[in-house]
Amino acid sequence: NISPISHSLTHSDKHKHRNKMAKSPETEHPNKAFGWAARDKSGLLSPFHFSRRDNGENDVTVKILYCGVCHTDLHTIKNDWGFTYYPVVPGHEIVGIATKVGKNVTTFKEGDRVGVGVITGSCQSCESCDQDLENYCPQMAFTYNAIGSDGTKNYGGYSETIVVDQRFVLRFPEGLPSDSGAPLLCAGITVYSPMKYYGMTEPGKHLGVAGLGGLGHVAVKIGKAFGLKVTVISSSPSKEDEAINRLGADSFLVSSDPRNMKAAIGTMDYIIDTVSAVHALFPLLSLLKVNGKLVTLGLPEKPLELPIFPLVLGRKMVGGSDVGGMKETQEMLDFCAKHNITADIELIKMDEINSAMERLAKSDVRYRFVIDVANSLSPP
Ligand code: NAP
Ligand code: ZN
Repeated sequence: NISPISHSLTHSDKHKHRNKMAKSPETEHPNKAFGWAARDKSGLLSPFHFSRRDNGENDVTVKILYCGVCHTDLHTIKNDWGFTYYPVVPGHEIVGIATKVGKNVTTFKEGDRVGVGVITGSCQSCESCDQDLENYCPQMAFTYNAIGSDGTKNYGGYSETIVVDQRFVLRFPEGLPSDSGAPLLCAGITVYSPMKYYGMTEPGKHLGVAGLGGLGHVAVKIGKAFGLKVTVISSSPSKEDEAINRLGADSFLVSSDPRNMKAAIGTMDYIIDTVSAVHALFPLLSLLKVNGKLVTLGLPEKPLELPIFPLVLGRKMVGGSDVGGMKETQEMLDFCAKHNITADIELIKMDEINSAMERLAKSDVRYRFVIDVANSLSPP
């Protein structure tokens, strides 16, 4: 959910930012804020004092309760993509309570439970924004490691509070728990949006989900809710039992087992690829039927090789997708509430984040870490 080309901090952004940096993160805005930040590519997170802007006419101030830990947070703190601008406070799966709303804010009031996801700004007037595709706006601003509309740096959800323009705030449906619902704000919309856009929702069709982590396990649940047959394609044989008995997958393929991979050739209509590291696409493309579609969502630090023969000979398609627009994110939350879809989470305290990141790097999470921000983050 980050585009190195248009959405990272450009040279001029950095220049703009450096001028602003005459003021420190702690004093650039009127309101004191506290969170955890990474300072360099060791990725080690530690307490960080900064500040938040005053609540503007169109803003909602959110007291953060929970924040999910996305692999994008890990890529970013480690500078995997080469455009992390430290210090960075990660976190874009935020659930909290609105504590202040500006005078133009119509859909939220104080005390409402709200969500904030991957993006917190866009131009609100381009072709993409007009089509509720703020996520593809050339001026889209990510929730962290990006510059906001006032020229100052955005800090994410591993923090006490956040101030967000109302367009980028979600209503959090009543039936959804705040902790296990939080990961839907990135993982949920990231798999839901391409399934809708690429037409991967026809009941009875066969969906492969490559990589059973945060995105992957939600893809299994959403796929089942659409009535699909779902097969997990995983590098971790130990996840088989849970995939089938807890998450509801119909079958499980170990990607390193040539025998069962061979038996599944040409059996899938669609594949959602959530693998976070460099991996071969050939085996995945081979699993697709003629006219099959592979959507790649993972953001490995190096390019993947695209094998042309299986594409051409089977009229197959490879596409990508970046989170989703705000309207569709709301639709996805309501869909998940209706179908009782939440993430399977391991709830952690803020000071457990560094060991959680180490485990996430080893694909050792069942299946999303969520930080209990309100109960474990307090300034020293
Ligand atoms: P995650 O929880 O770490 O899950 C990724 C899964 O990929 C792992 O659980 C593992 O599944 C598999 N995997 C990891 N390393 C592998 C390797 N070397 N070879 C084969 N499989 C491997 O991560 P996530 O939060 O779901 O995010 C996944 C990726 O999507 C990340 O790159 C993230 O930055 C990106 N992302 C993109 C968007 C977007 O808008 N497009 C949004 C959010 C995240 P198994 O154990 O089952 O093999
Ligand atoms: Zn994410």
